[in-house]
Amino acid sequence: MGSGPGTHGTTTRLAPFGTTIFTTISQRAAARNAINLGQGFPDEDPPQALIEASIASLQAGHNQYAPMSGIPELRQAIANDQARRGRERWHPDHEVTVTSGATGALAAALLGTLEHDDEVILFDPAYDAYPALVAMAGAHARRLAPPAPGFRITRDLIEKAITPRTRMIVLNSPWNPTGRVLDDQELADVSDCCIKHDLICVSDEVYERLVFTRPHRSIGSMPGMRDRTIVISSMGKTYSCTGWKIGWACATGTLTSAIRAAHQFLVFSVPVPLQKAATRALNDYGTDWDLSLSASYGTRRDLLLEGLTSAGLEPIAPEGTYFILADITGLGDDDDHAFCDRMLETVGIAAIPSSVFTEGGLGMKSMVRFAFCKPQALIQEALDRLSRLTPRIRGDVR
Ligand code: PMP
Ligand code: GLN
Repeated sequence: MGSGPGTHGTTTRLAPFGTTIFTTISQRAAARNAINLGQGFPDEDPPQALIEASIASLQAGHNQYAPMSGIPELRQAIANDQARRGRERWHPDHEVTVTSGATGALAAALLGTLEHDDEVILFDPAYDAYPALVAMAGAHARRLAPPAPGFRITRDLIEKAITPRTRMIVLNSPWNPTGRVLDDQELADVSDCCIKHDLICVSDEVYERLVFTRPHRSIGSMPGMRDRTIVISSMGKTYSCTGWKIGWACATGTLTSAIRAAHQFLVFSVPVPLQKAATRALNDYGTDWDLSLSASYGTRRDLLLEGLTSAGLEPIAPEGTYFILADITGLGDDDDHAFCDRMLETVGIAAIPSSVFTEGGLGMKSMVRFAFCKPQALIQEALDRLSRLTPRIRGDVR
């Protein structure tokens, strides 16, 4: 591994992050032929009409570069979709950018706006790409940890972390992995801090349609926030096509210029046929689709919640996303990595140790994340297997 000038290898900015947990766990699940409730990807296909739209686009000769900012009809569809759901109105030409998934939008947002040594507030447990992207931008993550199981974000928590170098807050609601959907008070607290300290808010809303208890509200719609928020989302969760990697960032012209300054050199543009299919999705699959999606995931959420409880775990009911965090101490375990190893090896179920989402991997050692974006029968099969996982006798050497 490279460690400085004259050596060749991973930059010191990225070396601490190693290989993502999602890659590691999915590889291990495949090798063990386990049920993969780790990496969050649905087993089902997107609607057939969307697949046909992308095939038709390939056959119609849409095989060359797209415009850097995205095809005009998709940018328009994104703007319309935001407006339809009562969000901010974004100008499709100057305020919407199509990216390589939400990941590409996050990368362009951070790399396009941050200065070296800026500080970025993240809330733990945080999606693993955030600290890595902060590091890539040469900035510093200031990680705050709202206490489990409520994971409430408060003004006090944020205020204590603000320094003259604080430049940005990254928010994720619905929140992977906690399942929280931030309420109006939390959004007001974050907004007030952003306005008072002149901060940019990057709002990752990829699970915006997957809500069970209260509707998701974008912080970009809070008073005074439009000019300082970058709203990010993608196709993957909403239309069950995580492999398509079509995402977007909506922000005012000044922020959009910054996003595009990075996006043009990261990937330049993303596949036209999939942008065509995304246009079709946003135009044709609206409120009814959103409702049936939440209903279908709601059933699976309840099934997994009940099964995890019966198996002796203590799950936290998610308000959104397709993930459940569960406390493992009831099964005699206190180390999430050891528990995930034990569960994978003995009963063939893969899940994500949640400490990977915390600073230095040190927090949340007693919690594990299970995904329920799987068919009910597969979730049931996983639960049957889980019921055979015997409690660990404390002091066991494994
Ligand atoms: N943000 C969060 C919170 C996620 O869970 C994920 C993963 N699905 C992403 C961003 C990445 O989204 P995409 O696959 O569209 O790049
Ligand atoms: N967002 C997905 C999850 O949290 C994983 C995405 C990825 O593998 N990069 O499970």
